[in-house]
Amino acid sequence: MDGLGDRPLKDLNGMTPLQAAKTPNMDKMAEKGINGLMDSIKPGIIPGSDTAHISILGYDPYEIYTGRGPFEASGVGVDILPGDIAFRCNFSTADNNKIITDRRAGRIRDGTKDIINTLNEMVIEEYEDVKIIFKESTGHRAVLVLRSEGDESLSDAVSDADPKNEGKPPKIVFPTDDTKEAVRTADILNKVVNKSYEMIKNHPVNQEREKNGEPPANIIVPRGAGAVPEVEPINEKYNLNSVCIAETGLIMGIGRFAGMDIIEVDGATGGTDTNLDNIIDEIVKHATGDEYNFLLINIDGADEAGHDGSFEEKLEFIEKVDKVVIKKLLEIEDCYIILTADHSTPISRMDHTADPVPIIINGPEVRIDNVNEFNEIEAHKGGLCRIRGSDVMDILMDLMNNSSKFGA
Ligand code: ZN
Ligand code: ZN
Repeated sequence: MDGLGDRPLKDLNGMTPLQAAKTPNMDKMAEKGINGLMDSIKPGIIPGSDTAHISILGYDPYEIYTGRGPFEASGVGVDILPGDIAFRCNFSTADNNKIITDRRAGRIRDGTKDIINTLNEMVIEEYEDVKIIFKESTGHRAVLVLRSEGDESLSDAVSDADPKNEGKPPKIVFPTDDTKEAVRTADILNKVVNKSYEMIKNHPVNQEREKNGEPPANIIVPRGAGAVPEVEPINEKYNLNSVCIAETGLIMGIGRFAGMDIIEVDGATGGTDTNLDNIIDEIVKHATGDEYNFLLINIDGADEAGHDGSFEEKLEFIEKVDKVVIKKLLEIEDCYIILTADHSTPISRMDHTADPVPIIINGPEVRIDNVNEFNEIEAHKGGLCRIRGSDVMDILMDLMNNSSKFGA
């Protein structure tokens, strides 16, 4: 449960939302399982959802995490390759002097796919061996992938074009080291930004927007360069058949990176209004079918409520997940279930913190402890004590009889 952990709140008489929520099914899971606290990366390190998931899946985020671009690109379905350089982009609005007047192009919703189709015809003359791949994401967001199809490689050591504020032109991208790959990539990126404006300023979607008094999405500003890393597929690493059921592009991107199959759930919004019935239906189908023996499930609403600073919304969502999802999870037999969070998103902070999160492992032959409530405070009394995210897969593989002895 993304962002589930929290801190004690005055509004809840010193309890966390998870403590205050009525969660009979999570509590039953705690009672029948082994409990503890988890630092998804390590104590005191504030996790992103991406780095936390990387760590929990048994990879080293300090080695693999090269920035958000590659994970976003993978999440929106670009088939990225090691060596590709990926960026997050905004569709922005620029005036005739290429001054950005709206970084989010009026939070454009429709038509970005059409604009992207036009942009995907882009070729930069001096760099014809570099493939330029754009893909729309939600709203004003998009991704850009640069792929070298020639002998000269590219680098992610380049600065951002996004000026971060309105009233300025896109920033000139410069190399952040002195390799010739970085110099080359920065030059390409500057040309891509300029060319994007030339190619889409008169696009039919934008003509229509201007007619309606809406800011046109007439320039692309990239940021957050990241080189696509090489990752050992999780199925090989742990001898699994794995699938990912997630709501957001970011988490689906991590699943794709790890080589997992991806299930997209109808009505999954990543918010507290998500369709939990459809989510649990997909979980039950794939947890009880023959195809997979490992499922990664991410339900995002508690994180969103945390970012919004609404304890009522967070508490209500936790209760809904308990009633709709956890109740049916408990009916699945011969299955290990790990219930935890990727990080805390405290209401008081409205962002992630490094506070450890509670974790339960439920399933055959676990050493059941005396904890019978699922929350941040009770969890430490359990038999798992305090572990790191990077311990989770090893513990699970051992329980599943899916690992081998270290030594004789
Ligand atoms: Zn998260
Ligand atoms: Zn978050």
